[in-house]
Amino acid sequence: MLTIALSKGRILDDTLPLLAAAGIAPTENPEKSRKLIIPTTLEDVRLLIVRATDVPTYVEHGAADIGVAGKDVLMEYGGQLYEPLDLRIAQCKLMTAGKVGAAEPKGRLRVATKFVNVAKRYYAEQGRQVDIIKLYGSMELAPLVGLADKIIDVVDTGNTLRANGLEPQELIATISSRLIVNKAAMKMQHARIQALIETLREAVEARHLG
Ligand code: AMP
Repeated sequence: MLTIALSKGRILDDTLPLLAAAGIAPTENPEKSRKLIIPTTLEDVRLLIVRATDVPTYVEHGAADIGVAGKDVLMEYGGQLYEPLDLRIAQCKLMTAGKVGAAEPKGRLRVATKFVNVAKRYYAEQGRQVDIIKLYGSMELAPLVGLADKIIDVVDTGNTLRANGLEPQELIATISSRLIVNKAAMKMQHARIQALIETLREAVEARHLG
């Protein structure tokens, strides 16, 4: 059995057409089903539907052999995983953002984010002292109500920032979703996983040529 961990939404929508190129299609709609383990048209391949931030955990521990996770999630997770293929889906940017026109604070910068590890690393590299405030969502609110000076979040069009009087500032990383593979699975099912990687690589390239 080959187990593939995915999250619902953007990643699932953009990954299913790539998996279809490898003859893998879910036997029921994962967006609608309440099931968390979804069989596929290949008897020996199944999908696990998990939270986006949990995908690396399932794959690192071998509960799934393969997964699809955003580079933002992987940067925050760290961990021991193979990352053999950029699927070039769910593209966005990881950025700092702050109130439009706001001056830099005099004291320590307060940064609200769910990407605590990324934030610590980013400011440490700059030799900057900051207070990191962990949030789980709606980061845009933090500067508006004085909880933080800046946020670190993923930005696509920037519409959410602008709607809240914020502006994107520094680019931390360009983001896309990656195929990740469990290290032991890569050894034990090498031929099979390598073949799947190559099929997906061709599907990614075809999508960008077409
Ligand atoms: P935006 O288009 O910048 O207004 O993005 C809307 C919201 O969607 C942002 O606040 C992000 O939290 C989220 N978002 C945009 N792109 C992605 C992505 N590729 N992966 C995860 N979240 C995203």
